[in-house]
Amino acid sequence: MHSSPKKDVLVMKFGGTSVGSIDSLRQAAEIVAKGVKEWRHVAVVVSAMTGITDALLTSATAAGNGNDRIYRASIDDILKRHLDVIAGLIDEGESRAELESQVTQFVQELRAYCHSIHVLGEVTPRGLDTIAPLGERMNARIFAALLQQMGVSSRAVDASGLIVTDNNFTNAAPLLDLTRARVKNILVPLMEQDITPVVTGFAGATESGITTTLGRGGSDYTAAILADCLDADEVWTWTDVDGVMTADPRIVPEARVIPELSFSEVGELAYFGAKVLHPKTIRPIIERGIPLWVKNTFNPDFIGTRISRQFQRPPGILTAITTIRSLSIVNVEGRGMLGVPGIAARTFGAVARQKASVLMISQSSSEQSICFVIPTASAAQVIRSVEDEVTLELMRGDIDRVWAKDKVEIVTVIGSGMRETPGVSARIFGALGKAGINVIAIAMGSSEFSISLVVASRDANKAVRAIHAEVIEKAAV
Ligand code: ASP
Ligand code: MG
Repeated sequence: MHSSPKKDVLVMKFGGTSVGSIDSLRQAAEIVAKGVKEWRHVAVVVSAMTGITDALLTSATAAGNGNDRIYRASIDDILKRHLDVIAGLIDEGESRAELESQVTQFVQELRAYCHSIHVLGEVTPRGLDTIAPLGERMNARIFAALLQQMGVSSRAVDASGLIVTDNNFTNAAPLLDLTRARVKNILVPLMEQDITPVVTGFAGATESGITTTLGRGGSDYTAAILADCLDADEVWTWTDVDGVMTADPRIVPEARVIPELSFSEVGELAYFGAKVLHPKTIRPIIERGIPLWVKNTFNPDFIGTRISRQFQRPPGILTAITTIRSLSIVNVEGRGMLGVPGIAARTFGAVARQKASVLMISQSSSEQSICFVIPTASAAQVIRSVEDEVTLELMRGDIDRVWAKDKVEIVTVIGSGMRETPGVSARIFGALGKAGINVIAIAMGSSEFSISLVVASRDANKAVRAIHAEVIEKAAV
């Protein structure tokens, strides 16, 4: 008998819930131990424990706002949570003592930063980026110590020495050539000695070494960047669900895991509110054609969802449905707009000045109205801004009014070949018609991978269920 040859390089990323408690850390470590047996090299990326990044940012902002009681309590919680986990996982002895002292040291640093912020009365983006990745830095050390204890040779590595970024604090972009060189000099030699690196997700540093972060949820980005630089064969991101689902199972109990998705479909899903991977974060592996799996730490034998560039779904098959909540649809109405150029540009200029993101736009061909969907939180200020912009047209009566309908949601159906396959929208509208749901607006054509509809919030869940039952469950995914 011969054993099958080991596969080459795997990057595994664990999200906050997968490494957020004693049990989940233990489970995640078992997964890595198994991976190390099956792959020649494994690099691990960890997030902070669930809630820790939020707690760190709360500490910093509370300190900046002069809330010293809040920031001190929050820091105490952070320390306690890490010490409890260490006590529950690592056997008493030298390595536990060292780990405790490292964590205590990081929390001391945190106290010192927050104290300075408190004195200054303000926190800068650069200051936030020094504080935010502390959760990853502590957790990487805990995870590496746990792996060591299980007999997997491992070391924590701070991404600030690996991932070189620009200085766009709190949302930095990686500089891939510089990063590739660091990975080659620091990570590859470790891996060649069969040491499994546990890299802190989320963080990076400028070329001169000032810590930055890649944006919230940035650990996926870290994994993709490392996969690119390591020339990895696959990326597995571990979460607390079985994979990417056809719909939110809280709304649709029949929702199921989608076995395979293309990168384009994932991009649409993320854009339209599904809590999956942000398209930006997987760009490095899209370009390299490295496939990514979404897997469940708490059900590790389940295969999960495979996402790849190569995957092509037969046209006309609808795969998933998602919603964005708390939206308003703004209408700019008036018969005098007919044939007048520039109104749309000026309207959206006025929206942009309020920094509101527009999720959907439609204009009727009779040109008597422009409508667009924005978060309700910015609706009032956007209306004022547009009214200011078109004061003259309002006075002349060319525009009758600018108004918003609140309590609407966007429902987006994702699939392939939406544009060129006849009958796709008929199926969707048929399902809605049967369920007696009124559609307020429609947009298609932003890409061929989705169709979006606006419905009243009170109809949204019903719409999702109707489309899921009539269109998605009946299609072979
Ligand atoms: N811990 C960071 C966050 O909560 C990064 C991540 O988990 O991906 O945003
Ligand atoms: Mg290779």
